[in-house]
Amino acid sequence: MNISLIIPVFNEQDNLPMLFEAIADTMDSLGKTWEVIFVDDGSRDNSLSLLAAHAEKDPEHVRVISFRRNFGQTAAIAAGLDYSQGEIIVLLDADLQNDPRDIPMLLEKLDEGYDLVSGWRKQRMDNAITRNFPSMLANKLISWVTGVELHDYGCTLKAYRREVLEGFRLYGEMHRFIPVFANSVGARITEVIVNHHPRRFGKTKYGLERTAKVVLDLFTVKFLVTFSSKPIYLFGGTGASLMILSAVIMVYLFIRRIFFLVGVTGSPLFQTSVMFFILGFQSMLMGLIAELLVRTYHESQRKPTYTVHTKINLDDD
Ligand code: UDP
Ligand code: MG
Repeated sequence: MNISLIIPVFNEQDNLPMLFEAIADTMDSLGKTWEVIFVDDGSRDNSLSLLAAHAEKDPEHVRVISFRRNFGQTAAIAAGLDYSQGEIIVLLDADLQNDPRDIPMLLEKLDEGYDLVSGWRKQRMDNAITRNFPSMLANKLISWVTGVELHDYGCTLKAYRREVLEGFRLYGEMHRFIPVFANSVGARITEVIVNHHPRRFGKTKYGLERTAKVVLDLFTVKFLVTFSSKPIYLFGGTGASLMILSAVIMVYLFIRRIFFLVGVTGSPLFQTSVMFFILGFQSMLMGLIAELLVRTYHESQRKPTYTVHTKINLDDD
């Protein structure tokens, strides 16, 4: 199988017929083997029966997974990935805001040797105040914190080589951070400008609160990517800095005591120094516990601490 499209669907009945058509047109013109996996995320409208009817009409290409209740877009994407077979994975939304006709362009970029091609909705057609503006700030922040510079993390339309998706699980709202994880396993990443259309049918499921969640997730992602195999560097680093600061304050207090005869214990700096020492020491100990957790984490999943690009004269076992 060459290409798997994965599409999360939550109450999109009016968008589905046109989506089916656009996908079939685009994919059939490529001359590659493909499948499309629709993940019905607990829709309460007619989406599931439309999907089922479509799957019956085109059993060669169309697969449907349906959730018992609404688990969220990220969970739907994760399920699609688990069941997909393509060497190349393309994610997109079901609401026709992403344009399936952009898929060939993304695939061409992959052929140039990239592992991940990210769509960029340069002319984004969502609410300017609750979505576009906060999203622009969030994209700048994420690019700066993670070092993976993309204009549009939130655009679902992206194409991936399967290898770069293996080895991590998606939680919360984290599908948008796939490029950050992919970068951590050495993926070559690029972006292309894609079409974006206003939503014609149905309602958006998100508002301003989404950006807040994204920023919180960013903490986790940064921690996982940078320190998940060596947490002691973060905790130990913080701890050591605090203890050094504590020592510097103490030295200052003693010099002041000896040369200027100012009492040590009366100064608030003394308490501060003691507090820094205790916090620093605690942080070091926490780092050691985190190291134990990391070992459990990697070994319970037999998850290697590296990713291989190619193997020569070696079989996959
Ligand atoms: N979606 C989903 N589960 C949810 C929310 C959304 O599967 O809980 C799907 C939705 O049907 C659509 C895509 O995720 O295909 C993006 O949702 P939406 O268009 O509401 O997001 P926006 O474009 O406003 O960011
Ligand atoms: Mg949308």
